[in-house]
Amino acid sequence: MPAKVDVSMCVGCGVCVNECLLGAISLNDEIASVDETLCTECGACIDACPSGAISLK
Ligand code: SF4
Repeated sequence: MPAKVDVSMCVGCGVCVNECLLGAISLNDEIASVDETLCTECGACIDACPSGAISLK
């Protein structure tokens, strides 16, 4: 499963956008959005997110 963002937890900091080496994450209306066609489930964004808003569930 590609990375999923819990929109209720995301604060729009953008850390994950910079952390994703594949450019799979962008901010839409200050909420992180994952492009599931680009995500390789590496987990880098999960470790980087200060809010714990991203998971691979
Ligand atoms: Fe949202 Fe976490 Fe990404 Fe920050 S790092 S934009 S809180 S998902």
